[in-house]
Amino acid sequence: MTNTNRTGGCQCGAVRFKIHGALGRPSICHCRMCQKAFGGFFGPLVTVKGETEWTRGEPSYFQSSVNISRGFCAACGTPLTYKHPGGLEIAIGAF
Ligand SMILES: [Zn+2]
Ligand SMILES: [Zn+2]
Repeated sequence: MTNTNRTGGCQCGAVRFKIHGALGRPSICHCRMCQKAFGGFFGPLVTVKGETEWTRGEPSYFQSSVNISRGFCAACGTPLTYKHPGGLEIAIGAF
């Protein structure tokens, strides 16, 4: 499964991505910042082990805490990424 590519993007289509290779650990984060960022009770995220290619546009970033940067579409607001010192995670609903 390591050569599988998965694609996704935001609601309006301005930002699209392709993830090369296998995905890592899925998680449901209930922290307060994920609740705010997703506008819901939790943030569904999955770790990316391979390369992330932005095939259309690029996310804008919001520094939600000292070590955390959250990527989202500046045009429609869809949450897309969660970057921390240990790596990158993608919002599962964006695939
Ligand atoms: Zn968008
Ligand atoms: Zn969280």
